[in-house]
Amino acid sequence: MSGEAFAWRTGGCHCGAVRFEAALPAVVEAQSCNCSICEKTGFVHIIVPESRFRLARGEDSLTTYTFNTGVAKHLFCKVCGIKSFYRPRSNPDGWSVNARCLDDVEGLDIQIEAFDGRNWEAGAAALAHLSHDRA
Ligand SMILES: [Zn+2]
Repeated sequence: MSGEAFAWRTGGCHCGAVRFEAALPAVVEAQSCNCSICEKTGFVHIIVPESRFRLARGEDSLTTYTFNTGVAKHLFCKVCGIKSFYRPRSNPDGWSVNARCLDDVEGLDIQIEAFDGRNWEAGAAALAHLSHDRA
């Protein structure tokens, strides 16, 4: 197997305090979730392993919100309030990047699937592999 090619793409919050980079394949799986928080924010999830995410700037500008189990770390920019990425409950070993916060999606085929976050326990296992590095 030749392996999949990843390209580093940049993104961030609205005010520019928080900047991240994520290595994504040309065709990328994404989830639109209907749980209590995602429904309100319109977050579109691209889940990546730790190795394919880096925070370029803004660690001091992030604030964390948690609820329910507290496993998910919802990270918001203190200045502009935008959640450009966070630590998801489904993949606490990886990151979920907000597809809406990428700078440039040229050449990126984002395939959005519905995730039934209101029945989280029934569906979460199907996402676990997304934060694992592929051999
Ligand atoms: Zn900001």
